[in-house]
Parts: sequence; C-alpha cells; structure tokens
Amino acid sequence: MLLCRTIAELRRQVAAERAAGCSIGFVPTMGAFHEGHLELMRAAGRSCDVVVVSLFVNPTQFDRRADLERYPRIETDDARLARSAGVEVLFAPSVQEIYPAGFATSVHVAGLGDVLEGQHRPGHFAAVCTVVAKLLSIVSPDVAVFGQKDAQQLAVIHRMVSDLNLPVRIEAHPTVRENDGLAMSSRNRRLSPDDRRRAVALPRALAAAAAAIERGERDWSDIRNGVFESAGGEVDFEYLEALDPSTFSPVDAFGSNAVLLAAAAHVGDVRLIDNLLAQPTLATEPPAGSESDRYSTSKEAI
Ligand code: AMP
Repeated sequence: MLLCRTIAELRRQVAAERAAGCSIGFVPTMGAFHEGHLELMRAAGRSCDVVVVSLFVNPTQFDRRADLERYPRIETDDARLARSAGVEVLFAPSVQEIYPAGFATSVHVAGLGDVLEGQHRPGHFAAVCTVVAKLLSIVSPDVAVFGQKDAQQLAVIHRMVSDLNLPVRIEAHPTVRENDGLAMSSRNRRLSPDDRRRAVALPRALAAAAAAIERGERDWSDIRNGVFESAGGEVDFEYLEALDPSTFSPVDAFGSNAVLLAAAAHVGDVRLIDNLLAQPTLATEPPAGSESDRYSTSKEAI
C-alpha cells in the first residue's frame, strides 16, 4: 500500500493506475478505522480495481474545538488496517495541503444541508461538501462509497454530485453495528465503559420507535415520548425525528411510505448519531380514496 501526503503524489499514482486500465474506488474518512470503515473499503474493492482511501480529520466541519482536539488519531494502526482491507493507496494530507493560505471556496447544499445536523451544527455540511468536492476532484474516482450511518451526509452528497454533475457514482453502504446494536463510530473509542453500556439506549430507542410505527401506531409525538421514557435518561437526546428519507422533511402522519428515524444523543461528553428506516404497515382500514394507492404501494414494496 502506498502512502501519499501530497495532492501531486496522489494524482501521479492515480494517473498511473488509470494508464494501466484500472478503475478507481474511493472511500473518504477521518480515520480511527473500525469495521464500518473497513466494510466500505472492501465494498469499494468489489466495485473497482484499485481502492484509494483518504484519511483527513477535516477541521472545518467540527463545531466544537474540544471535539476536534479529542478526535482519535492513530495513523499507524489505520494504515495497517487499510492494507488488510485491500487498500492500494492511503491519502493522508496535512491541513495545509488541503487548505493552503488563501483558500476561500465553500460548497453549500441549501435545504437538505440546513436541517437536522445542519441546524444543530451550523456550517457542518458546507464544510463536509467542500472537502468532499475537493477530494473527489483530487482523486477523480469512478465510484465513491459512503456509509448509511451518516444518512443525511449521504443525501447531501448525492444532491451535490447530481447538482454539480460530478463524474462519480456514489455507493451507499449499510450501517455496520456492534453485537448489541450500537453503530460503529470512531467516537465510540472515547466512551468510558459505563457510557459504552448506556450508549446502546440510542439504537434501542430507534428500534423501539421503528417497531411502534411498523405495528401501526400513528402519533409521532406519542411514540417519541414513549421512547424517551423507556430510554430512562441513559442518553441525553439532542433530537429524535421521523423524516421523509429523500427530502428530510418531518413526517407527522405515517402513510405507507418508508420513514427515516434519525437521532443525535450525548453520552457523557460524546455526541453520537444514528438512524434507522421504518416501514409503516398499511392501515387495516384503508383511508378514504386510497384503495388504489394501497395496491400500487404494496407492488412497489415487493
Ligand atoms: P468518518 O471517518 O466517521 O468520517 O466516516 C467515513 C465514512 O465511513 C463515512 O461515509 C461514514 O458514513 C462511514 N461510516 C462510519 N461509521 C460507519 C458504520 N458504522 N457503518 C457504515 N459506514 C460507516
């Protein structure tokens, strides 16, 4: 595996792989690799001949300085794990290499990038989109793989790639979880043993909300209150929302369309996010005038 520190080195290597007729798969990351990252790398390897991974803790996307300073950095371990996952090129540039003096450009995805995480962490998605657009331009991959774990990031990047006609195919990879359901995250390393035990309340809350919707419960504020009560203060929710998975607008009345449940919660001083897709069951009593919808939806579901 080749380690590149500069844009010039990386571009030379990618050009050589292309000249040899290889397709390029790309996985952008902030390092501290876990099985979720490695699964994305393996998926990129199934789609393309050569896998490039970037390891860059992007300072501009952190809203709290302490979070940036405490973000885990373990490049030597990361390089070993990336090699074991079949990665050919690890691109680990300095902050100066990515943001030289005078850097002044920002990519903002309006709407999708302003709600939920964008609202709770102002400027977050502009920072993510700017660095991802820059990395896509540097690596020029055929395929870039992103995790469903960051569902809103994935939707925002899809929008950006489509709006800017970037010549890359975005592949989504399902969330990889620990045995007890906690979504793998680089931030899990910072949980104390007690906080790690409590953190499982987050995926459990999402699963309980999804189960309620799938059983046919229809009142979101009742469902959410019930979930908060049974979470019993184990984690401190910043938000728990039921959303349309394509627009990220809130869904209050559940029909038969899939609903994305997204949450952010604090456990000790660590902020975790997670999401789950719920598929409401069709109402036993069809709402007036919706008989044909019912059939067309069930056909789609098949
Ligand atoms: P990060 O290093 O946290 O910025 O994540 C890099 C990529 O890995 C992003 O596309 C994330 O969505 C993805 N990712 C992080 N955690 C997981 C996970 N548990 N399962 C699947 N993908 C993940």
